[in-house]
Amino acid sequence: MPEQKRDYYEVLGVSKGASDDEIKKAYRKLAKKYHPDMNPDNKEAEAKFKEVNEAYEVLSNPEKRSKYDQFGHAGVDPNFGAGGFGGGFDMGDIDLGDIFGSFFGGGFGGGYSGQQRANAPQKGESLRANLTISFEEAAFGCEKEIELNRTEVCSDCHGSGCQPGTTAETCPDCRGTGVVRIQRGGGGFTFSSTGPCTRCRGTGRLIHSPCRSCGGEGSVRKKQRIKVTIPAGIDNGQAVSLRGQGNAGKNGGPAGDLIVGVRIKPHPQFQREGTTVLYEQPVSFYQAAMGAELEIPTIDGKVKYTLPAGTQTGTTFRLRGKGIPSLQGRGRGDQYVTVKVQVPTNLTTEQREALRAFGEAMGENISEGSIKSFFDKHKKKK
Ligand SMILES: [Zn+2]
Ligand SMILES: [Zn+2]
Repeated sequence: MPEQKRDYYEVLGVSKGASDDEIKKAYRKLAKKYHPDMNPDNKEAEAKFKEVNEAYEVLSNPEKRSKYDQFGHAGVDPNFGAGGFGGGFDMGDIDLGDIFGSFFGGGFGGGYSGQQRANAPQKGESLRANLTISFEEAAFGCEKEIELNRTEVCSDCHGSGCQPGTTAETCPDCRGTGVVRIQRGGGGFTFSSTGPCTRCRGTGRLIHSPCRSCGGEGSVRKKQRIKVTIPAGIDNGQAVSLRGQGNAGKNGGPAGDLIVGVRIKPHPQFQREGTTVLYEQPVSFYQAAMGAELEIPTIDGKVKYTLPAGTQTGTTFRLRGKGIPSLQGRGRGDQYVTVKVQVPTNLTTEQREALRAFGEAMGENISEGSIKSFFDKHKKKK
């Protein structure tokens, strides 16, 4: 512990007479620079970040700052005068939302207070739902309805939580921030931390006549049927996001989103790879040898295809533009058709005779037993 601590003003790079504003600015700059999210696995940055936060914690608080000015580190170090604080790093009341909010423009608006979270507008939670659709519905898009439970802004009080005609009182204990400073300490030193205001339960408002419909919550739980438009070309595992269809926001914040994950039921005949449809077309040995007019199923219905004579099993041909529309609306994929020649089984006597005649015509010396001897020959070779 007795390592030499740097002067807090030096840590923030400001003069002893720096204004609150200058301290705040210096702190934000450094906190952002050394923030662990910006410096993953950087021990030095982590140490700097702690140091900067510690310095700011003291210099941003008028009471602590004056003690520090008088007594130096001993005046404000929690390890002096109060046991059990261990010196471990604690984010305490440093609100990173505020640091980053004000840097990246998303903030809570208005000036810095570090304590605006309680009653600032908050976006509602996003909800997830799953939807299972057919192969064709995914290909061409569809309209579906899903039922879900979500919170909605109470229509009677419009979210205020107050019985119509009444208003809430700004909590006098926390002056509407929802957060109070808690003084602790002993041995001549006090230090403070922040915690939620108990009087208003952190809301910053006291509702004297709660709205009867929502009990003062400002929102109500409702079962709702939501229309979901599934775009043509959506693939298994992709999701559709419906803005503002999630849970209600707080303090006038926007509602969350509804994210609908899409599952596609397997098709009995088709398989899909991106925008390509794969299909296996069974043909008889006769059709493969002689050629045939086929009717091939596609997602648009049957299409005619002339199978050339002498088509081998495993041959693949393409039906251009018969695949899945692209999700970006740029045309359609193709359907690939692979020919599978079926070898006949369970032949009748008549069919066997015909096949033997065929074999003989092909110049093969075929008898009923020749298949067996053919395999025997191969066995002996090995
Ligand atoms: Zn209400
Ligand atoms: Zn309060």
